[in-house]
Amino acid sequence: MSASSHSYPMSGGDDKHSYIHNSSYQKAGIDGVQEKARQYIFKNLDLLTMNPNLSTFTIADFGCSIGPNTFHAVQNIIDIVKLKESQENSLVPLEFQVYFNDLPNNDFNTLFRTQPPSSKQDYFSVGVPGSFYGRVLPRNSIHLGNTSFTTHWLSKVPEEVCDKKSPAWNKNYIHCNDLIEEVTEAYKVQFTKDMRVFLKARAEELVAGGLMIALGQCLPDGVAMYETWPGIVKDTIGDCLQDMATLGLTTEEKIEMFNLPVYFPQSSELKGAIEQNKSFTIEMMEIVSHPLEAMQLSNNFVTSMYRAILSTVIEEHFGDSVVDELFRRFAKKLSKHPIDFEKCKKQMVYHIVLKRK
Ligand code: SAH
Repeated sequence: MSASSHSYPMSGGDDKHSYIHNSSYQKAGIDGVQEKARQYIFKNLDLLTMNPNLSTFTIADFGCSIGPNTFHAVQNIIDIVKLKESQENSLVPLEFQVYFNDLPNNDFNTLFRTQPPSSKQDYFSVGVPGSFYGRVLPRNSIHLGNTSFTTHWLSKVPEEVCDKKSPAWNKNYIHCNDLIEEVTEAYKVQFTKDMRVFLKARAEELVAGGLMIALGQCLPDGVAMYETWPGIVKDTIGDCLQDMATLGLTTEEKIEMFNLPVYFPQSSELKGAIEQNKSFTIEMMEIVSHPLEAMQLSNNFVTSMYRAILSTVIEEHFGDSVVDELFRRFAKKLSKHPIDFEKCKKQMVYHIVLKRK
């Protein structure tokens, strides 16, 4: 399905669509570039040639969430591997084993309850709870790994940004908006460290010749987060928290201690972080604009998307009484001061295929 075949709300007054949230945004990003990865897998996956006795093909999706995007991604991979198999002289018909990984607090019940029934004919499923910033699967056990829209979630917030005495203190901003150089540097260091750990773990889990597909968002070189609409959204959420502190609904101190563990690297920085790992070769790296970046998104879309993404972290820090009021205020602020999407700088979608040496 192409991004344009979704019915994205274009302007206000779209209550019936307000349910659509980040998962649609991510899916639109996946669809646009997935075809290239499929072609790559089809042409270059030589595991079947290398081992005609291979009977179980194993796939892992790291940071699968509750679906449905993960099912879509996995099915696409299986379809292409099957097509490839049909052209090879494999001795045994392949069976597929899929590992669905996410953090232990992910709702795995929803994931497996909503899994398309037809998938059972195609693959066996296993849930793998654990942080992908470390090993979650046995050594040498995976033929193809996938991760989409995950590694901008860091393993933690860099400590300095919450430390009032540090030059990297992020004041009352709630994310790395690139307004304070030292803050950006602290986030960058954490991102590079996390990427190193992520790739080291995947290198151990993948078999030689195995592929790792990574999809996500980054910034073009030279673009700062505060110039993009997702950056403006998070700054606006921060402003709403400030308003709430003024009214005594939360405190200034709480805001100062709050930062999102999220970082979007610039594209050359991302490439550098990947190249540091010597166990993989970069087979493909595409950086394209996100189909939705060109669109005028409605306030309801933006509000429900960010509520879906951020409510858990906000609730953990500020308590659950804050979330409803915060997003009510956020929606009001957006309707008073709509984001001029056209004027914003664009975030990009990256699509990378790595091969285990
Ligand atoms: N891959 C899905 C979901 C992306 S949302 C899609 O493309 O739609 C990001 C997911 O990454 C969330 O489910 C979150 O819980 C998971 N995640 C974040 N940090 C993680 C970590 N350290 N280990 C495993 N999963 C993580």
